[in-house]
Amino acid sequence: MSSSTDADEKKKESFNAEAASLLVNNLRATFASGTTRSYEWRASQLKALIKLCDAHEQQIIDALYSDLAKPPLETVAYEIAMFKNSCKAALKELKRWMTSEKVKTSIATFPSTAEIVSEPLGVVLVISAWNYPFLLSLEPVIGAIAAGNALVLKPSEIAPATSSLLAKLLGEYLDNSCTRVVEGAVDETSALLQQKWDKIFYTGNGRVGRIVMAAAAKHLTPVVLELGGKSPVVVDSNIDLKVATRRIIAGKWGCNNGQACVSPDYIITTKDYAPKLVDSLKAELEKFYGKNPLESKDLSRIVNSNHFGRLTKFLDDEKVSGKIVFGGEKDESKLRISPTILLDIPRNSLIMREEIFGPLLPIITVDKLEESFDVINSGTKPLAAYLFTTNNKLKEQFVMNISAGGLVVNDTALHLAVNTLPFGGVGESGVGAYHGKFSFDAFSHKKAVLYRSFLGDAPVRYPPYTNIKMRLLKALVGGGLLGIIRALFGLS
Ligand code: NAD
Repeated sequence: MSSSTDADEKKKESFNAEAASLLVNNLRATFASGTTRSYEWRASQLKALIKLCDAHEQQIIDALYSDLAKPPLETVAYEIAMFKNSCKAALKELKRWMTSEKVKTSIATFPSTAEIVSEPLGVVLVISAWNYPFLLSLEPVIGAIAAGNALVLKPSEIAPATSSLLAKLLGEYLDNSCTRVVEGAVDETSALLQQKWDKIFYTGNGRVGRIVMAAAAKHLTPVVLELGGKSPVVVDSNIDLKVATRRIIAGKWGCNNGQACVSPDYIITTKDYAPKLVDSLKAELEKFYGKNPLESKDLSRIVNSNHFGRLTKFLDDEKVSGKIVFGGEKDESKLRISPTILLDIPRNSLIMREEIFGPLLPIITVDKLEESFDVINSGTKPLAAYLFTTNNKLKEQFVMNISAGGLVVNDTALHLAVNTLPFGGVGESGVGAYHGKFSFDAFSHKKAVLYRSFLGDAPVRYPPYTNIKMRLLKALVGGGLLGIIRALFGLS
């Protein structure tokens, strides 16, 4: 942000591996003191995060407007309200999540009891992305705090206003001996990645995901990688077209103008149905964003000129340049690109080989809708996949045959608002998951604890080993009472 002072700049410049090491050591000392383990500390931090949202809603809206021209409604609903909702759900469930889970034991350990104890991992690193810079920074922080960890958050430098606001507000609202924000870009992130963490939670693209995983591997640090991919939408012909169209638009252009990890990346429909779908998309897009969408206040801008150039390259590819059936307008000075639909583009075009992450929506046509499964499965596993149909058999086949981070039938993007569902990718779209209890679990170690008394000290496990002991142990480990009786009578 332009308001950062020289002192701030110096502080940022001096954040090298040495400073990162010192920071981690300090956090380790606080973690070791036990501060973060109590229910009271965890709850107080979650409550402070809710307060932060309530007291600074306008500043958050302004920061996201400065970074992305994000419409205030999208900021309030999809970043602040969703985040507060997650905090409240965590607060409501926290005691239950922290309670150890009693589990059954086997006859081989009789008499005994056992439980699974969730313990904090220690000191964790959260690295977040620019597109939902508030939500994606703080949603993992809920899990890290709820699970009782100390943490460092590294927001994205590509959303500088939000990054600096987060640094300021987290400094004011959270316990700084346990939670710290480090601002910066590649150098600062690299300095952080050289350190030993107990978990690294990264949101962003797969190229950097690989850098994060390689750095983590040096210390055997576990990772969650929340990545992206090409999320398809399969559209059948037996649907309520108007509702489907509006829901596709809401998930694509209504989510940060397509700059969302779960945005529909491309549509697959039949050759026969495509013209109807295109007409419907055109009509609804015009209703939503007017005749000159470049001027619409309800569409985010492209985040920066690099991403603007990346998206322009997709459109300049000679394989697709004649395929635009709607939109295609650009204003580089304002970093605006209008909602753009491309029809019947070849699958080997650039736009079909990379994640789009912007307001361009290609449509691929097939003879029969069933062919869409092969189209999807011929690529890497997407973060989300969507199907619009009323055909139950097709729904079933879709769920059985499509491997993606998450699926939604007859809507887009909404699965991430359901806290009881895990949110994460598979294969190229990510490793691990979070949201709700899954966030708590992502930042916890599930410790196995077995309790024995001094009773039941069976000589069978001690030398000298004999055939009868071997038979008995085999039966005991096998777990069947009948087997044990047979072994005792020499029958097995
Ligand atoms: P980005 O450029 O903000 O990068 C993400 C983070 O990586 C930043 O904090 C950045 O500082 C850091 N980084 C960048 N280069 C680095 C390097 N060389 N070494 C170490 N750290 C580095 O965000 P992005 O990658 O452009 O984000 C967009 C991608 O993220 C898309 O692929 C999108 O699908 C994905 N995404 C996924 C989710 C999800 O929840 N699964 C959410 C949002 C975005």
